[in-house]
Amino acid sequence: MGQVYNEFHRRSIEDREGFWREQAALVDWHKPFDRVLEYSRPPFARWFVGGETNLCHNAVDRHLATRADQKALVFLSTETDTEQHYTYRQLHDEVNRCAAVMQSLGVGRGDRVLLYMPMIPEAAVAMLACARLGAIHSVVFGGFASHSLATRIDDASPKLIVSSDAGMRGGKVVRYKPLLDEAISLSGNKPEAVLLVNRGLDPEYTTVPGRDHDWATLRARHMDARVPVTWLESNEPSYILYTSGTTGKPKGVQRDVGGYAVALAASMKHIYQGNPGETMFTTSDIGWVVGHSYIVYAPLIAGMTTIFYEGVPIRPDAGIWWKIVQDHRVTVMFSAPTAIRVLKKQDESFVKRHDLSSLRHLFLAGEPLDEPTHRWIADVLGHPVIDHYWQTETGWPMLTSVPGVEATPVKFGSPSFPAYGYDLRLFREDGSEAGADEKAVVGVVPPLPPGCLSTVWGDDDRFVKTYFSMFRDRLIYSSFDWGIRDADGYHFILGRTDDVINVAGHRLGTREIEEAVQSHTAVAEVAVVGVADQLKGQMPLAFAVVKDPARTATPEARAALEKEVMAAVDGQLGAIARPARVHFVTMLPKTRSGKLLRRSIQALAEGRDPGDLTTLEDATALDQIRVAVQAPK
Ligand code: AMP
Repeated sequence: MGQVYNEFHRRSIEDREGFWREQAALVDWHKPFDRVLEYSRPPFARWFVGGETNLCHNAVDRHLATRADQKALVFLSTETDTEQHYTYRQLHDEVNRCAAVMQSLGVGRGDRVLLYMPMIPEAAVAMLACARLGAIHSVVFGGFASHSLATRIDDASPKLIVSSDAGMRGGKVVRYKPLLDEAISLSGNKPEAVLLVNRGLDPEYTTVPGRDHDWATLRARHMDARVPVTWLESNEPSYILYTSGTTGKPKGVQRDVGGYAVALAASMKHIYQGNPGETMFTTSDIGWVVGHSYIVYAPLIAGMTTIFYEGVPIRPDAGIWWKIVQDHRVTVMFSAPTAIRVLKKQDESFVKRHDLSSLRHLFLAGEPLDEPTHRWIADVLGHPVIDHYWQTETGWPMLTSVPGVEATPVKFGSPSFPAYGYDLRLFREDGSEAGADEKAVVGVVPPLPPGCLSTVWGDDDRFVKTYFSMFRDRLIYSSFDWGIRDADGYHFILGRTDDVINVAGHRLGTREIEEAVQSHTAVAEVAVVGVADQLKGQMPLAFAVVKDPARTATPEARAALEKEVMAAVDGQLGAIARPARVHFVTMLPKTRSGKLLRRSIQALAEGRDPGDLTTLEDATALDQIRVAVQAPK
């Protein structure tokens, strides 16, 4: 860790109140807070107690004085071939209209509003309108199907659902409304009203009279609406975001208002270095935490222009993202390693033909970033690529380099250092602290910093039991990730504690084996899962995508490559980690947001039901796994 950042981080822990009081000045407060931190009921932390503020005010209204005519949101859809710009003034108008519409449908402070929407600007407008009213939004990823949606409706009991006729992905219409209707019929908590943006994509679109309302019609009735901001005490909930855990029941991560606003504003300054007037492009979806924090709230709080992109990275061609960076002079970009690996399979001229001189950094998160991918993208971009690590629960980075405070050298495979505010340490399973180079659980000594989840929606007990009960004698937030810290203070994430595989009594991370498999130059992508083995408890099994199909064109070629890959693992980790088999497939099963469905692969490999596949990108990938594991050697 660099000297300057080390000192910055130390102060954020040792002088928490002083540190966060300073950061709190980055946002507007309607009423100043009485106390920076109230921590009388561990592990529940209350930040900026007594202060009143509002996320919509900070994201939109407060910029009107200085940047009303600057673009706030640029909507780009390569699916519908649309480009729309909203200045801060226009965004303010739209948010007021939407807030008035929501009010007319009975929504007020503390009410839940569930959003099930494609990446259209109305989604951001609806989120901000909720924030304006003090209503609690819960965005459900558009890739979830009826059952998942119904469980979330049941848990959040929304007064209103905002949705759309359809989304589009890869040129195909994805119908939302029938799934929503089915979810509502499955749910025990039926909303009073549904507000629908009809994009005209679905010729079979139908509405339910009395319950369903048309966005455009109601908007037209409120064109001049001005809805005052509802000032909220800093600790009131701003939103719920469901995330899957080890049980079938989704957990509603609940976020506050003031702490979240401050954490995001501070992250834009110190980590992302996004300045007012510049443009940020985050390639996620509003259904995920990255979309909440870094497509919608943070760039707007920072007075930036945010790119709101509907489309995939390889359509119309693999240069589309870089064209967006060039055309909109993007300075901060945020994406996920998988997407970069997809692009890596394409010709690098797709990147290089664009003028990327505006770009300062590319940030990647969500899954481990392997060294070959990191090197490749950093080389072709010619700009620093920052691996950073965080979770839905934390809302902003936990491990990162912090270039706004001090530029520190990259170590490949490492998301660097604990972010300021996190007393992040590595714990052995008995709760004692691990030393350098020792694999242990990534934990955070509470209080968690501002911006992190304040509880699990409607279930304080579950919050404590899920996140703070891993170690018997110490109240520690568990990330459920394994990690390691080297002598220089760099951290490496080694996979989920709940995905660990145990081979003949030896613990191995599937992640480590994947890196080893990927060290073979023929391999583009790989998934390793642990499968039950009568003799050894578990054995790793690998499913690999090769760069050149010729390498696996014949059974002989496959067998030869399989041997080579195994030898590579032997060489990197030892024979203990060698996969029982390396199956070659042309694609891996992933969610639509690009995450590998490891558990489903594992289930199939063990002949079990692959589980909830509602977020699956492409079913053929799973079929390949099925066929591969059944094929005789
Ligand atoms: P989610 O809450 O869905 O964003 O998933 C969070 C999990 O993704 C973490 O607990 C990690 O297991 C993994 N993760 C996120 N970012 C990284 C990263 N930079 N490196 C390694 N794993 C990561």
